[in-house]
Amino acid sequence: MSRQFMQLPLHSRLSRLRSGLEPPSGNPADDRMCWICLRGDEDHRRRDWVHPCRCRGTNKWVHEACLSRWIDEKEMMSPGVPVTCTQCRTEYIIVMPPLCRFDAMLERLDKGCERICPSVLMGILAATVYFSAVIYGALTLLELAGYDTGMKLLQEDPSLLMIMLPSVPTLLLLSRLVRWEDCVIRWLRRRNRRTIPAEQLDAVGLPLPGAPLSDEYFDELEREHPVSDVLIGGNLATEQLGRAATSFCIALSLPTISVVLGQKLYGRIYEENKLLSILLGGLTFVAIKGLASIYLSHSQYQQRRQRFVMDYTPLNRINHQSRWR
Ligand SMILES: [Zn+2]
Ligand SMILES: [Zn+2]
Repeated sequence: MSRQFMQLPLHSRLSRLRSGLEPPSGNPADDRMCWICLRGDEDHRRRDWVHPCRCRGTNKWVHEACLSRWIDEKEMMSPGVPVTCTQCRTEYIIVMPPLCRFDAMLERLDKGCERICPSVLMGILAATVYFSAVIYGALTLLELAGYDTGMKLLQEDPSLLMIMLPSVPTLLLLSRLVRWEDCVIRWLRRRNRRTIPAEQLDAVGLPLPGAPLSDEYFDELEREHPVSDVLIGGNLATEQLGRAATSFCIALSLPTISVVLGQKLYGRIYEENKLLSILLGGLTFVAIKGLASIYLSHSQYQQRRQRFVMDYTPLNRINHQSRWR
């Protein structure tokens, strides 16, 4: 490599090399530069040069040690993906010395375990869920039909019961998907539309500070940001998770609640027709729970309508605690 070229600073040497302005030289081996550490043979002659891909020019040569490290880093970032040259996409030819027979067997065993065990674990989890569902179904049957009748039913056809019993918790959970409260809330909102009083509007018809928000404001908000959009937000996702957990617990405790309410509220019917009183108990619970959530949702809606943003003064800050704390 010419002395004049080597006296240039590294970055200008590099840009010349990359743009194809390679310095004139007698021996092509002298022009080699490792594209990873950007060193050539100027300091001392290294002997681990390789050209591992189809690239020509400045990207052709690389130190084997530099490339090895680069390949290891790539493999750590995306394991199992073949490492290729970023320029010409050639897959590097990496030769692993063969393992002795015992070592190879151990390696195969290890890989086999890694492949099979996730499926085994999934199977165990599925079986656990299934048998929990069977036990839950059996307990519910005993609770609803009474111990003697329940045991008789359980002994009659065990194979049918293995299918019927798990469907009990499944149906209970699915029943929570029927959101009748939401339909009522939407209907109520459509029925009770309120306009902003005239004294809270200015001459053009725009609301004055402190005026309640109109129904149109919430309609538009819901149209532009449907619930599925909001789910992505982290905090709301945890809120949804909490709601789902509540739904799960309520669904599974519904039979017990129904029996207790059936006995307490419909005692006279309970003595004549046990199942009817339990059914009435369940319906009573669902109705009370639904009405309570409709009432709460309505109150929260009214609260949001009346909400407004205050001017910042230190006194206002002290008097009104943060909404987000
Ligand atoms: Zn190098
Ligand atoms: Zn290449």
